[in-house]
Amino acid sequence: MRGIVIKSTGSWYKVLLPNNKIVDGRLRGKFKNLGLKLTNPIAVGDNVELEIEPGQLTYVITEIGERTNYFIRKSTRKTEHCHIIASNIDLALLVVSLKSPRTSTGFIDRFLAIANKHQIPTVIAFNKVDLLKEKHLDKAHHLKELYNSIGSQSLLSSVTTGDNMDQLKSITQGKTVMVAGHSGVGKSSILNTLYPDLDLRTGDISGYTNKGTHTTTHAEMHLLADGTRIIDTPGIKEIGLADIEKHEISHYFPEMVKWANQCKFNNCTHVHEPKCEVLNQLELGNIPEERYQNYLSMLEDD
Ligand code: GDP
Ligand code: ZN
Repeated sequence: MRGIVIKSTGSWYKVLLPNNKIVDGRLRGKFKNLGLKLTNPIAVGDNVELEIEPGQLTYVITEIGERTNYFIRKSTRKTEHCHIIASNIDLALLVVSLKSPRTSTGFIDRFLAIANKHQIPTVIAFNKVDLLKEKHLDKAHHLKELYNSIGSQSLLSSVTTGDNMDQLKSITQGKTVMVAGHSGVGKSSILNTLYPDLDLRTGDISGYTNKGTHTTTHAEMHLLADGTRIIDTPGIKEIGLADIEKHEISHYFPEMVKWANQCKFNNCTHVHEPKCEVLNQLELGNIPEERYQNYLSMLEDD
């Protein structure tokens, strides 16, 4: 029997069967670990093969189907351990905010590099724009333009004023969407606005009406009546590149890829080499300085 993993809580998994029943399953046997130290062999979104346990109401997961893609990170930049947040995703929605809390572009650029490597389309929502005054608002507009210019769709949003909620709805509807970002940026608030049936718990205690016990400590896939599948993920504090070698990092910066074949050395790291076209274009202002600085910082990550 086949199913889709919709939640993992350590050793047990919630699996959705084709008849829409949700059952509990556990692992049996060894699973491919992608050659990495994985904290979880099975992720939300995985297609799995199951067998009923003789004489029980529970199932064992015997096989994992090939993943079309997956989002993987190191839990901190210092650890060796990698975690697959979700797999078989149509879209990753990265929610960020410039204030309360602030998301750095270093975080955004690491997220985009991982998504890029695994061919996951992304949308960045710069949320809470209602809180921003001139300086920060200018910065938000600037970053929106910057990310759009490198091919990462991005927009400014506000749950409070409703800005771009319709846009986010049409971008996500009908897809399997992984929603990620720091805790407190407004992920749950956005999702509740787009899909009221979700009724997720938000950080707003006074407005807290949820009768359920939902807290986002594990990724969880929510299935909506219109076919949309929302993978709600716990707030990510830090993001480390999991399976990306130093020399490939620049491959996931589209604005560098554009020029790299004109560098003198075909293994150019675009840091110190002579006749480096990336450095030349940086000088000319055709590669955003902030993105390049984040690239250098990624080269220095453990
Ligand atoms: P999550 O941890 O990313 O799911 O964030 P929540 O959705 O729980 O939101 C955290 C807090 O930010 C809550 O108090 C929300 O009401 C508030 N919030 C969310 N979106 C916005 C927004 O666009 N503008 C403002 N001013 N507050 C927001
Ligand atoms: Zn170069």
